[in-house]
Amino acid sequence: MAAFRQRALNEAASHKTERFYVEDGPVSHYFGRNVFDLDKMRGYMSQQAYEAVLSAVKFGGKIDREVANEIASGMKAWAIENGATHYTHLFQPLTDATAEKHEAFIAVKDGKPFEKFNGSALVQQEPDASSFPNGGLRNTFEARGYSAWDPSSPVFLLDGTLCIPSVFVSYTGEALDTKVPNLKSLQALSDAATSVANLFDESVKSVEVNLGLEQEYFLVDESLYSARPDLVLCNRTVIGHTSAKDQQLEDHYFGAIPSRVSAFMKDFETEAYKLGILLQTRHNEVAPNQFECAPVFCSATKAIDQNMMLMIIMQKVAEKHHLKVIFHEKPFDGVNGSGKHCNWSMVTDTGVNLLSPGKTPNKNLQFLSFYAAVVHAVYEHHFLLMTSVASLSNSYRLGGHEAPPAVMSIFSGSTLYGIFKAIENMETMPESEAGLESIKIVNSIPEIFPDNTDRNRTSPFAFTGNRFEFRALGSSMNVASATYILNAIVAQSLRQFRKEVDALTATGEDVSTAVMNTVRKFIHESKDIMFEGNGYSKEWEEEAGRRGLRAVRNVPEAYEVYHEKKTIDLFSELGILAPNEVEARFEVLNETYVKKLQIEARVIGDICLNHVLPAAVRYQNILIENVRGVKEIFGEEYKSLCSSEFATLKNISCLTNAISRDVEALVEARKKANKIEDIAERAKVYSHEVKDLMDKVRYSADHLEMVVDDEMWPLPKYRELLFF
Ligand code: ADP
Ligand code: MG
Repeated sequence: MAAFRQRALNEAASHKTERFYVEDGPVSHYFGRNVFDLDKMRGYMSQQAYEAVLSAVKFGGKIDREVANEIASGMKAWAIENGATHYTHLFQPLTDATAEKHEAFIAVKDGKPFEKFNGSALVQQEPDASSFPNGGLRNTFEARGYSAWDPSSPVFLLDGTLCIPSVFVSYTGEALDTKVPNLKSLQALSDAATSVANLFDESVKSVEVNLGLEQEYFLVDESLYSARPDLVLCNRTVIGHTSAKDQQLEDHYFGAIPSRVSAFMKDFETEAYKLGILLQTRHNEVAPNQFECAPVFCSATKAIDQNMMLMIIMQKVAEKHHLKVIFHEKPFDGVNGSGKHCNWSMVTDTGVNLLSPGKTPNKNLQFLSFYAAVVHAVYEHHFLLMTSVASLSNSYRLGGHEAPPAVMSIFSGSTLYGIFKAIENMETMPESEAGLESIKIVNSIPEIFPDNTDRNRTSPFAFTGNRFEFRALGSSMNVASATYILNAIVAQSLRQFRKEVDALTATGEDVSTAVMNTVRKFIHESKDIMFEGNGYSKEWEEEAGRRGLRAVRNVPEAYEVYHEKKTIDLFSELGILAPNEVEARFEVLNETYVKKLQIEARVIGDICLNHVLPAAVRYQNILIENVRGVKEIFGEEYKSLCSSEFATLKNISCLTNAISRDVEALVEARKKANKIEDIAERAKVYSHEVKDLMDKVRYSADHLEMVVDDEMWPLPKYRELLFF
């Protein structure tokens, strides 16, 4: 067998099942050990400093320098006691990953070494970090980037480093990360939701978003991974014939977790627990070697920060197990891709889940108001919301028949859907009666709800009893880049909701009637987004078109939504992003798309020319030798005796010629596209011409894989990567 592949397979076979991170006693004994939470803070600083942090966490209060110094010294003491040598601001640039630049605590003064960390180091760092994408926001040479502590997320220890969750902004204050707009969107949503909640309960002061993020991923043996240049460089296979057996028997889904994987899971769970990440579920997913884990939901910022940390920890722990975690949305053709289901709900400071249907008519009216506002928001901005998850990697998954479709819709479940139909149909009835009648309908919710919310797995946005589950997010994404958009559109819709209720009550309508009429109006205007059927079906694609719902079929084309007035107004109105910040994001999205596709196109070219074609030619030569031998022995009879060799030789020639031709065309297409100055236009050309040619090359390469002698094939095959 090709030496490279053989060695990888041998190494993979030698990797053992082992545990590396084991703690004594029950999880509760070490849960949160590495987090400097409010409880620990009490022991390390004065009451005044503690209260300053508390107020910053709860109300976003400012912390002055004096107090910051004290907080920093408390943090330093705790970190050093626990073995830390460095600290870093941890921020979330527009690359969808996290970034860190470690600084040592150690300093020397008057020849004496000591650990140094003060308030200004805590509050602000200047990593410069000029290489991160910024979409033109930092084009002048003096435009530095600053990271600043976000006290709403606790600091923690990882690998001997004190990690300080931070925002990343330009010298002039523009957001260069995903955290800033997310924090702003949460504030906007809180304000708007509070004003609607106050219609039902005056004591509500703020509203928080809760998120529960389910993380899907693939595991591949490290040696096999290293033998695939495409996995190493692109995190996905750019060629590879599907395995004869993959997921068709559905024997992997929820099956027994293989022991090597189970050891890995227990290890990363232990590390996650120490960071206060409350992981709750683990199971096999649909595709072979695909798995999922999910924590218990918590407040949005914490959930997102923890998800980012979780991805880092998983990769670190995997190293010990000689595994690689693949977070890419579609690493393998022909089997399911990976997503990150985002369970989203709103809860008041008085502890009421606003998306939970209640037992009293009043509670139900509140529930219906918030539900209708979400429906309205998703309808109004359905294309923007779908585009919020659009990326090159997710585009390989979305719209495939196992993943959420490319067009947005909301699944409510038959009971709730029936209720909304009834409410909406009363439109023609006299208004006063309609109000009364609807409240009666609302009364009936508790008996039949929520236990029978059917699970429609084909919907990109489904109601699941007390929350919405946004399922189109990609597994590798920073969730904030989609949730700030979701928060924003709902905030806008809730603002409008309150405004319309106020307008009705000003004309003398009582509040309940005004609310009910607004619910009806919102549902009536946005009912086209509600769909209960099979989202994967051809019929729905056509029906969605008839309803005027726009699908995200091409990623760079979809990004144009950031140029639409409706989008720009949305973010400015709510103070989430200024127009130049929206434009910067548009640029970065296109740039990232082009760069990633460019790398993939190069890799597929290299693999085909340097690995696949040489193997095919070697096999051809063996066949030719064989034909010569047959001729030597049987003379002219060889022509009929070697008919299968002739056919194979011809087939291989056709395929190798096609590959050479298409790879050359691919290089030309890239060159041509790279000459286009405008990044958005370049991305569009890439998305059509470059991508189409890559598909062609792959087609030929995957066919060659079926023809060439298995012994000679240079790369680990799907069946080897996906089954261990
Ligand atoms: P499934 O795979 O069936 O969707 P999981 O149990 O894997 O369900 O994940 C459900 C996720 O939803 C968990 O993270 C859970 O904590 C979260 N969740 C439950 N209730 C809420 C809520 N009210 N708001 C936000 N997330 C929630
Ligand atoms: Mg789910």
